[in-house]
Amino acid sequence: MEKDGNDMTRSDLTVSAEEMERQKEFTAEIRQMPGRPESFYVVTYGCQMNAHDSEKLSGMLQEMGMTEAEDREQADFVIFNTCCVRENAERRALGNVTWLKEIRKRNPGLVIAVCGCMIQEPGMAEKMLKQYKFINLAFGTSNLWKFPELLYRTLNTDRNTVVVENEDVIPEGLPISRARKEAAYITVMYGCNNYCSYCIVPYVRGRERSREPASILREAEELLRSDVQEIMLLGQNVNSYGKDLGGGMSFAGLLRELDAMGIPRIRFMTSHPKDLSDKLIETMGSCGHILPQFHLPVQSGSDRMLKEMNRHYTRSQYLDRVRKLRAAVPGIGLSTDIIVGFPGETEADFADTMALVEEVRYDSAFTFIYSPRVGTRAAEMDGQIDPEVSKERIQKLIALQEGLQQETMARFVGMEEEALIEGFSRRSTLEVSGKGRHGISITLRGGAEDIGRIVRCRITGLKNNTLTAERI
Ligand code: SF4
Repeated sequence: MEKDGNDMTRSDLTVSAEEMERQKEFTAEIRQMPGRPESFYVVTYGCQMNAHDSEKLSGMLQEMGMTEAEDREQADFVIFNTCCVRENAERRALGNVTWLKEIRKRNPGLVIAVCGCMIQEPGMAEKMLKQYKFINLAFGTSNLWKFPELLYRTLNTDRNTVVVENEDVIPEGLPISRARKEAAYITVMYGCNNYCSYCIVPYVRGRERSREPASILREAEELLRSDVQEIMLLGQNVNSYGKDLGGGMSFAGLLRELDAMGIPRIRFMTSHPKDLSDKLIETMGSCGHILPQFHLPVQSGSDRMLKEMNRHYTRSQYLDRVRKLRAAVPGIGLSTDIIVGFPGETEADFADTMALVEEVRYDSAFTFIYSPRVGTRAAEMDGQIDPEVSKERIQKLIALQEGLQQETMARFVGMEEEALIEGFSRRSTLEVSGKGRHGISITLRGGAEDIGRIVRCRITGLKNNTLTAERI
């Protein structure tokens, strides 16, 4: 009999050392394989979780002896790490996969793989391989840790491999090729139990499962030794970290341990307002290495819509969380996600969202038009909104947010900040840019020697959504 998420034990969840060892053997086999691809290119769609999964794919491919190509046209192996959260991302991925068919004509040995959330959608992998026969390998998010075995099969025997098993597991010890030296992702938990009515994630990423604190702390220690300046803790709902650990550790507790380690900057993503505890807010206020920024998706300002969305909080509960965060961490940088055009959204509901945005005054907001996802409850709801109405609403919302953002960002002018420099600015090679402690982009004069460093600066002004600064 299959066990449901609640019956699973920790040892059921963790991929065994023997299994991980077997994957290493496949890696070694591929390394020795005559005529195997020499170079690879990973194309990533979607969120930070996907970006981090791509770092794991790159790590595994490098261990197989492949080198990263400059672009996809130069590579012998191309893998698309897809996202299915919005229809747009799905369409873009499919469009680009089709384009590879042309490249295959010039490079007949090209091996093409597709993985990620989109493949995990029921029936999608089979449909894709039928429609796009030139794809050699397709596998789901939860099978990522088996990538060496799957690629071995594809290269060795079977040029059309599809594996989509729903395995709610925690793989430890995968090689990671990190995109940045100074800032690193750490996954603290996988999956989501919330079933917001518009969201496909719980269906494709499985039940919530937290990594053991000891594994997370070990990873953080290694990063600290390698001189990392910032870590971002990842999970679909980090605020519920530890609920499946039997009371051993909460997210606030984990943050305290990481803070005590002395990592210069700690951030995390994403939070669910219903799970944002007073303890976590208190921890934000008392731990100096946790950055004063918070991404708190609201989705709608209307109680009626929040209920339909299955969000489990009301507008006033959300606003209470915001007030507490601001009291505990004065000047905190706040960002959010908002959906417009959810089924049944009336003008009055939309007006509630506009009023909430006006009241909270976010430093940034990611705004989306509702996009129905097959298999979710909202896709079956009555009252789907005319796309023209949704477009009009989102334009109004964006205009409001942009106006407010200029005002809220003005509070930083004259303030001292610290920017972790990511690279040269897009405008000039005499300028570098990075993220301030509050999560806002900062540009200042500088050079290559600043990249990867934290630079102290004073904010002098703002241009569009970026702060300008001079170093102190
Ligand atoms: S919390 Fe809701 S929106 Fe976020 S991943 Fe889970 S179901 Fe999706």
